[in-house]
Amino acid sequence: TRSLADTDPDLMQAVTSELGRQRDEIELIASENIVSKAVMEAQGSVLTNKYAEGYPGRRYYGGCQYVDVAENLAIDRAKELFGCGFANVQPNSGSQANQGVFTALLQPGDTILGMSLDAGGHLTHGARPNQSGKWFNAIQYGVTRDTLLPDYDQIEALAKEHQPKMIIAGGSAIPRILDFARMREIADMVGAFLLVDMAHFAGLVASGDYPSPFPHAHVATTTTHKTLRGPRGGMILTDDEAIAKKVNSAIFPGIQGGPLMHVIAAKAVAFGEALQPGFKAYQKQVIANAQALADQLMKGGLDIVTDGTDTHLMLVDLRPKGVKGNDTEKALGRAHITCNKNGIPFDDEKPTITSGIRLGSPAGTTRGFGEDEFRQIADWIVEVVDGLAANGPDGNEAVETKVRTEVEALCQRFPIYPEL
Ligand code: PLP
Repeated sequence: TRSLADTDPDLMQAVTSELGRQRDEIELIASENIVSKAVMEAQGSVLTNKYAEGYPGRRYYGGCQYVDVAENLAIDRAKELFGCGFANVQPNSGSQANQGVFTALLQPGDTILGMSLDAGGHLTHGARPNQSGKWFNAIQYGVTRDTLLPDYDQIEALAKEHQPKMIIAGGSAIPRILDFARMREIADMVGAFLLVDMAHFAGLVASGDYPSPFPHAHVATTTTHKTLRGPRGGMILTDDEAIAKKVNSAIFPGIQGGPLMHVIAAKAVAFGEALQPGFKAYQKQVIANAQALADQLMKGGLDIVTDGTDTHLMLVDLRPKGVKGNDTEKALGRAHITCNKNGIPFDDEKPTITSGIRLGSPAGTTRGFGEDEFRQIADWIVEVVDGLAANGPDGNEAVETKVRTEVEALCQRFPIYPEL
C-alpha cells in the first residue's frame, strides 16, 4: 500500500527526473512517442500479476477470464486497424516479433534477404551481430547511389542468385514509401515469403497515410510504440491461416513464456485510440510536420537524404556543414533537442561517428506542435549545427544556451502529463 516515493526514493527520483526531461526537451527520436495516460494506466495495472501462457480460451493457467477479455480486445482492434484476419499481440518487442516469424517459417541455415543496416534496415533483418545474421545465411540489399531509394533491381538480382526463403521489406531509417507490390513480385519469382516489418510506419498504415503491406505481404510485423503510439511491444499480422497457426506456436511455446498481460492490455487501449477519428488527423499532422522540418532544414543549408520525406522521419546529411553525427547529437542534447546520430547511405564515417542524424515528428506532434513549431525547431537545429561548424566539436556554448532557453519556453507552451 506504500507508494513508490516512500519505498524507493532513489528509483522514484529517476522516474521524476525522466518525466522532467521529457517535459523540458524536444523529442525528435523518430522511434519514440508520448503515450496517453490511459495507456500508462493499463500498463501499470494489476494485469502484471497474471500468468496466462497460451492464447485466449486455451490457457495453461486458471483465472484467465479477464485477461482473455483484454487480449481479445487487442486482437480484434489490431485486425480492424490493419484490415487483416489474424493478429498475435504477444511479442514482447519488435525484435521478438521478427524472431517469432523466423521461428515460424525458417530453419537455421536458411537464406534470408533483408536491407542492410547502413542503408536503413534493422539489426533483426540479417545484420552480423544479431541472431538473424548468425543463425541464417543473411544476404543484404541496399539503396541506389543516385536516388538513395531501395534498389529493387539489386533485390531481384540477389533473390535470383541466392534463392532466399524469406525477403524482408522495411527498416528503421527509410523516409520514402516502399513498393510492396514489386517486393512481392520478386518474392514470388523465387518462391520466398515476403515479410514486411512496418515497425516505423505502422501508425501511418493504420491511418491510411501509407500503403498497407496487405495483400502483398505473407506476414507483417510491427512495434507498437513508435508511430502507433502504444506501449513498448511487438505484434505479428497475417491473412494466411497456415502461417497464423505457425506464428502462434512460434511465439508460445516457441520463443516466449507467459505473455505480458499488462502490456497487452495497454496495446488494446492504444489500438482503440488509433481507431478514433482523431488518430487520422494526428498522422496527417505527423507527416506535414516532418515535411516542414525537412524543408526548413534544407533552407538552412543541410541536405536531407532523398530531398525530403513521405513519412514521419528523415535522415539529415550533415556533410554540407562539415560536422559529424555524434558531435551534433551531443550539441543538440545540450540545447535540449533530443535525436540520434545515424549513418547515411554510403557513409564514410564509422557507425559510432556518422555523417548524419535521424529526426522524426511523432512525439512533438503528440504534444501539439504544428508546422510553425517544427520550422522553428529546424532553425534552432541549424543554429546549433552552425555553432559546431564554426567552433569545433565542443560547439558554441552561448548559442546552445540561448536555444535551450527558447526550447524550454516552447515546451512549457505545450505541456505533457500535466496531471502527473
Ligand atoms: N524493426 C524495425 C524496423 C525497427 O525500427 C525496430 C526498432 O527500432 C525493431 C524492429 C525492433 O523493435 P524493438 O526495439 O521493440 O525490439
